[in-house]
Amino acid sequence: MKVAFFDAKPYDKVGFDRYTEGTDISIKYFETHLNEDTVSLAKGFDCVCVFVNDIVNKTVVDKLYEQGVKMIALRCAGFNNVDTRACFGKIHVFRVPAYSPYAVAEHAMALLLSLNRHIPRAYNRTKDFNFTLAGLTGFDLHGKTVGVIGTGKIGKIFSDICKGFGMNILAYDKFPNPDLGLNYVELPELLAKSDVISLHCPLTEDTHHLINKDSIAQLKPGTIIINTSRGGLIDTEALIDGIKSGQVYGAGLDVYEEEGDLFYEDFSGHVIQDDTLIRLIAMPNVIVTSHQAYLTREALDNIANTTVNNIQIFFAGELNPETEVCYHCARKESCRKERHKKCF
Ligand code: NAD
Repeated sequence: MKVAFFDAKPYDKVGFDRYTEGTDISIKYFETHLNEDTVSLAKGFDCVCVFVNDIVNKTVVDKLYEQGVKMIALRCAGFNNVDTRACFGKIHVFRVPAYSPYAVAEHAMALLLSLNRHIPRAYNRTKDFNFTLAGLTGFDLHGKTVGVIGTGKIGKIFSDICKGFGMNILAYDKFPNPDLGLNYVELPELLAKSDVISLHCPLTEDTHHLINKDSIAQLKPGTIIINTSRGGLIDTEALIDGIKSGQVYGAGLDVYEEEGDLFYEDFSGHVIQDDTLIRLIAMPNVIVTSHQAYLTREALDNIANTTVNNIQIFFAGELNPETEVCYHCARKESCRKERHKKCF
């Protein structure tokens, strides 16, 4: 099986080279993203392996299909960057549903703690032998209320971490899970009562700009917003206005709606053209990390292991309903995945 691996980074290769050694999978690593301009690179390959900022829209899917690509192996959990409906009946799409929900939940807490206790500012001061404390006052997390939006694998672990800090949890999920023992409320109540809000739902048509001018107006003044999910969940301009007015105390962002051409690349020494991101980064109460919440040794190892396994299983003609995405074929009652454990 010939695999074209897009957006390849040195830390990806370690695990993938290890798990493909001695197998009949050969990988060609491309540093570029997969998109309409680069899709022709996939000619002659059986599979493309892609990550969060590769663009697999209908044009790309059609071109991949025309070139004979049979499988899209996502090495991530979210698949909002793939037009799965365009893939239906043509190309099979697999993902890594869980590689380390702990990695992401722990990073969300790292952002919250860093923001609340001004760790980046404190670090910069002491590096300069400035041992003053003015402007570094935080608040106790203990006894505060955190609103968790999306209570799947990551949201559940983040809730557990927050419980460990003695926080009260309010949860909102489109599909609440009664087994989790969480206090589910409607979204307006969560927005109005939380001191901290952390986003852990996927980016869908429903959730696009879930945090917008209207929802920000409903917040308790001084709320902290943490986003380790997908940038498109937040209307960034509305967030900036919210921070400027003080309605939002600060934001810890691992993702950004226009991150695609920027994150994972080194632009130090360049003037970046994204004024919104420049304004965000310039704010003292905003921390931006470059979509790195997943980046732990354990997660990288699981990603490589599961992706290689997905490729082997698919090309052996076997089923893997747990990792193949649902294409929203709209056959509600007679969905083939329900009956035959595969979509097509
Ligand atoms: P999951 O599928 O286990 O959980 C998602 C939860 O969101 C589910 O409980 C689902 O019911 C809920 N949900 C769906 N639609 C909703 C809506 N409209 N409103 C509220 N809740 C809704 O997924 P997960 O593994 O917990 O991952 C959550 C998200 O984290 C992923 O979608 C992905 O975008 C993001 N993620 C980010 C990183 C990173 O490095 N920053 C890494 C992995 C995942």
